[in-house]
Amino acid sequence: MFESNKFQTAREAGYAQCHDCYKLIPWLLEHETRKHVCPRCGAVVHIRKPNSLSRTWALVITAAVLCIPANLLPIMQVDFLGSTDYSTIMDGIIYFFEEGSYGIGIIILTASILVPFFKIIGIVLILLSIHFRWKSWLRHKALLFRAIEFIGRWSMLDIFVIALLQVLVNFGYFTSIESAPAASYFTGVVLTTMFAAITFDSRLLWDA
Ligand SMILES: [Zn+2]
Repeated sequence: MFESNKFQTAREAGYAQCHDCYKLIPWLLEHETRKHVCPRCGAVVHIRKPNSLSRTWALVITAAVLCIPANLLPIMQVDFLGSTDYSTIMDGIIYFFEEGSYGIGIIILTASILVPFFKIIGIVLILLSIHFRWKSWLRHKALLFRAIEFIGRWSMLDIFVIALLQVLVNFGYFTSIESAPAASYFTGVVLTTMFAAITFDSRLLWDA
C-alpha cells in the first residue's frame, strides 16, 4: 500500500476526519453532494473545510490593514496634572526601555509587534505556498502553522499589560491612564489573526 518515501493522506485512502472529535470516517462519493454528519458527535463533516483559503485570505488581509491604525494611533491616554498625553505602542516600548524596565518593554514588544507580524507573515507564506503549490519545506510549514495556532491564545497579553498598567498608574496622584482608539484596532488584529488560524484547514498543505 505505501510506496517507499511517499506518504498517503487520509483523503487518498478514502477517509475524512471530523473537525470536532477527530473521528476518521470512511468517505463515500455520495457525501460530496449531501450533508454528512459525524456518527459519533453529530457535527457536519467536510473532507476539507469549505472556502478555507478565501476566508483565511480575507481575515489575514483584514488583520494586516488593522495593524496600521493599531500601531500609528495612540493606545494609551495619560492625564497628568491636567495635561493629556497620548502614546502609541512604540512610545510605550521606548518609555519602558528608557526607564530600565526591560522586562515589561520586551513583553510589550513581543506581544504587540513581533507576534502579530510573525503570525500575519507566517499565514501569508503558507497561503502563498498552497496557491503556487510549493512542495518544499511542507513539514516546516506545518510546524509553523502549529506555532501560529499556539501563540494565538497568548496574543491578548498586551491588552492585559495595558489594563494592569492602568490599575497601577491610577493609584498615583493626579494621574490617570485610559486606553485610546488603537486598543480596539489592536484587539481587531488579535481576533482576525486568531480566526484566520481557525478557518485555515492545515490539511490543504498536503494536497499539493
Ligand atoms: Zn465527530
